[in-house]
Amino acid sequence: MSTVLFLFRQDLRLHDQLALHTVLGLGCDYLLPVFCHRDPLEISPWGFVRTGKHRQAWLDSALAGLREQLAQRNCPLLECNGPPAAVLPELARAVGASVLVCEEIAAPEEQAEVDALRQSGLHVHTVWQSSMLAPDSLPWESGCMPDVFTQFRQLIEKQGLFAAAALSAPLTLPSWPEQAAGIPEHLLYQAPSLSSGQVQRSDLSEKPSSFPYWQPEFNGAETVALRHLANYFSSDLPHTYKRTRNGLHGISYSSKWSPWLSTGALSARQICVALNDFTSRQGANESTYWLWFELLWRDYFRFLHKKYGRRLYHASGLLPHTDISHQPAAFSLWCQGNTGEALVDAGMHELMATGYLSNRLRQVVASFLIYELGGDWRAGAAWFEAQLIDYDVYSNQGNWLYIAGRGTDPRGGRRFDVHKQTRQHDADGSYRRLWGQTATPV
Ligand SMILES: Cc1cc2nc3c(=O)[nH]c(=O)nc-3n(C[C@H](O)[C@H](O)[C@H](O)COP(=O)(O)OP(=O)(O)OC[C@H]3O[C@@H](n4cnc5c(N)ncnc54)[C@H](O)[C@@H]3O)c2cc1C
Repeated sequence: MSTVLFLFRQDLRLHDQLALHTVLGLGCDYLLPVFCHRDPLEISPWGFVRTGKHRQAWLDSALAGLREQLAQRNCPLLECNGPPAAVLPELARAVGASVLVCEEIAAPEEQAEVDALRQSGLHVHTVWQSSMLAPDSLPWESGCMPDVFTQFRQLIEKQGLFAAAALSAPLTLPSWPEQAAGIPEHLLYQAPSLSSGQVQRSDLSEKPSSFPYWQPEFNGAETVALRHLANYFSSDLPHTYKRTRNGLHGISYSSKWSPWLSTGALSARQICVALNDFTSRQGANESTYWLWFELLWRDYFRFLHKKYGRRLYHASGLLPHTDISHQPAAFSLWCQGNTGEALVDAGMHELMATGYLSNRLRQVVASFLIYELGGDWRAGAAWFEAQLIDYDVYSNQGNWLYIAGRGTDPRGGRRFDVHKQTRQHDADGSYRRLWGQTATPV
């Protein structure tokens, strides 16, 4: 009788779950789906908590959704306390499992996690599933991806590549093994009682967020993600996206898929299928094309990680030399929204108060830290990691590198003129008035 451990990572869903389908294809007798909770107080090398309150709250709601989906299939989620390599080998021994399946993540920490599990003696099978396009469908030999986004996109479009059909959620799952009754208590996660480290929902209700995740229609669960997707494509918003996408505030100026994509409650293939369906029913235009274009950026940063891996995490990025310095005092003012530059400060207040920030302002504040304050792009990326509810290792690292000119931007980086940006995107000052005050900590 075989038991397989299935480790959920950034794929907290059952629809389009290629990794889970792989397990079911193995024909195991028993299945133990697991999620490993990290230390919520882990401090980043830059001196602040690595997972901020908003991101933690968002993850919690995605997990609640996953718990429900698995419970409906009589195969509950087992939640463990601690990093996978610290808990899963003992768990595997306790339940008599030797095989673990999980999604593949091509980022250094996540790869080290899998290496450590393998070194513990577990047979770990990883499945790539987070991109819209399958790596083996790409029109170049492995390792030969074009570095420049435009060439990447043009080659894909020339071949007419598209996402494969999304998989439906399994209706049934194997049950837990009997030995699960004897899992050592110390491996199990105990949810903390509400502490000062957690978001108080009552403090959030009045916040004018562009992604109010505390409202039911923005809950992190997979079912809510799929409803949001269906609602988006039953509106005319996909036809106006290109015109509105540089908005600074509001729910409708962009798709708002990213928070669900980041936890994996929504799959990029599912979106692509829905986009295709929309264009065949309602017609394509430059806005529907631009949604595809942006999803290609997401894939591009994933495949760039597959190509360059750890090099993307060097201070110099892909450049040969490092000339970089960290300015702790200026960095702290930037984080708190106290730089004296009104648009930047308003953006940083919004980020801290809600865990979300428009793409335009992410670009503006990142450029300000790097070029006006002379700061270290890696510290900025780490602050975004802590704050953003849609934090995604590939997109965050990739965008920061790109703006810093240490990645693959043929123009050698993007410096945004903050006064020009203010005139173009907040001419009437409404955004600065909305978020101008120092954010009340939540
Ligand atoms: C410095 C910086 C850091 C960023 N960090 C993250 C991050 O941690 N997580 C994240 O998901 N995005 C990140 N982005 C990209 C982008 O800002 C967000 O994906 C976007 O704002 C999410 O809102 P949306 O879903 O409404 O996007 P839309 O504008 O509606 O776009 C649709 C989808 O396309 C993808 N997309 C759009 N723009 C980009 C982009 N520049 N790079 C990669 N994918 C893109 C996203 O999956 C997005 O959900 C970052 C951008 C910058 C400049």
